[in-house]
Amino acid sequence: MSRIQCPRCLRPQTHCLCPLIPSLDSRTRVLLLQHPSEVNHALNTARLAALGLNRAELIVGEVFEDLSALLNQPGYRARLLFPGEDAQPMQAYADSEEPLLLVVPDGTWRKARKMLHLNPLLAALPRVTLAEGGVSRYRLRKAPGPGALSTVEAIVQALEALEAPTTFAPLLKPFEALIEGQIAAMGEEVYRKNHKQ
Ligand SMILES: [Zn+2]
Repeated sequence: MSRIQCPRCLRPQTHCLCPLIPSLDSRTRVLLLQHPSEVNHALNTARLAALGLNRAELIVGEVFEDLSALLNQPGYRARLLFPGEDAQPMQAYADSEEPLLLVVPDGTWRKARKMLHLNPLLAALPRVTLAEGGVSRYRLRKAPGPGALSTVEAIVQALEALEAPTTFAPLLKPFEALIEGQIAAMGEEVYRKNHKQ
């Protein structure tokens, strides 16, 4: 394929999502660690989150050599957004509390677990989780379980929990357009047949 790509959102230039991507401020910093297998996925929602948040950074890799520098950012407490026995549900910041450096692995569950295995510093971070009951709008890819969210949706929920009552809904705009575009391209009928609940 030789279709011209937008260098920023990596969509074909005819379907560039950049005009829909916001530029949002947050107290929280977000560090997205993206498995290389996700980079060229049509629904690269981690990239949309990284572009739409002023305090977000996306790094692609499997082993992260400079992880200790990435995780030790003065003024922030690094926490891994990943399930685990001791994972704490996220709560709104108290006034004087140091904000989080929210570290978000992006990949399938298997790939994300492998990243943790290959990066002991990552696996050793205290973990945080989202409150139960998140409903995904991500209707295209089979979710691994009830309440499973796409990366950008998980980040929106996390930031809204930490920074309530601030809304981060504009971050979902390009994602929603992407989903609608994919459904339209597939044809509603095929979509319904393949994705019956
Ligand atoms: Zn673009």
